[in-house]
Amino acid sequence: MFENLSDRLERSFKILKGEGKITEINVAETLKDVRRALLDADVNYKTAKEFTETVKQKALGQNVLTAIKPEQLMIKIVHDELATLMGGAAVDINIKGSPAIILMSGLQGSGKTTFSAKLANMLKSKRGKNPLLVAGDVYRPAAIEQLKVLGEQIGVSVYAEEDNKNPVKIAQNAMQYAKQHGKDLIIIDTAGRLAIDEQMMNEIESIKKAVNPQEILFVVDAMTGQDAVNTAKEFNERLDFDGVVLTKLDGDTRGGAALSIRSVVNKPIKFIGTGEKFDAIDVFHPERMADRILG
Ligand code: GDP
Repeated sequence: MFENLSDRLERSFKILKGEGKITEINVAETLKDVRRALLDADVNYKTAKEFTETVKQKALGQNVLTAIKPEQLMIKIVHDELATLMGGAAVDINIKGSPAIILMSGLQGSGKTTFSAKLANMLKSKRGKNPLLVAGDVYRPAAIEQLKVLGEQIGVSVYAEEDNKNPVKIAQNAMQYAKQHGKDLIIIDTAGRLAIDEQMMNEIESIKKAVNPQEILFVVDAMTGQDAVNTAKEFNERLDFDGVVLTKLDGDTRGGAALSIRSVVNKPIKFIGTGEKFDAIDVFHPERMADRILG
């Protein structure tokens, strides 16, 4: 994960090797490289600029107070600021209420359906929930089938209405079904489009209004870099979602989405997807991600 960024950062810290102390000059040189590494990892320009400015202030400020070698000091400051940039502490999802309702949003192909099943499986096995998956993508018959297959694999019921083309109604019926069948958690998978369009946004807004979910998650493919951040912004303006799910972090992704989303959209990343299998899901921990980036 983020190998190129890790290598580049490591190399930039080497500039400080053998330096007796941190100075305006060697800090500027190091941070020029750090900024380039961030930009090449597809981090948002403003985010990268603010990041290096903060690191500079901290490095110059802490220099007098510590006996740590400049290289080590810089690594520590960058580590802490990376964690802060990604949100600081992990943020849990809200699954209080019975049934608690989680609404999934995002573009087609982002990994919504796969993630819905992963999340159901995780909340069932780790938090003792009895979930119901709801097939709200009425446009692709394959999506309903896909959810049913996944549901069977993880032993979670799937609510679908093959002949109903009204996802708002389906979501409402699913709530009734959940209450009658003792389900304490509903995860609604919704239709995605290849690009944002008005009809999709209206539809998911209507579902939100009709079911009043505790938690709205926005799922996005981390491989799409800055596009991921822009899509997140647009969805957030319409839905005011609660958290981001970054999928496909197992691929050759550069890291820009993970590092920029929090500061641009001001919503926490809550989960990551790291593969196609249903156990390839992790709670997002900014500290641990910073550890991984800095090796
Ligand atoms: P949806 O259209 O948003 O519902 O997306 P899908 O759940 O159908 O996923 C689209 C494709 O991405 C499928 O081939 C999934 O197997 C794949 N996929 C989903 N999540 C991940 C992930 O975390 N890593 C990898 N490598 N592939 C994923």
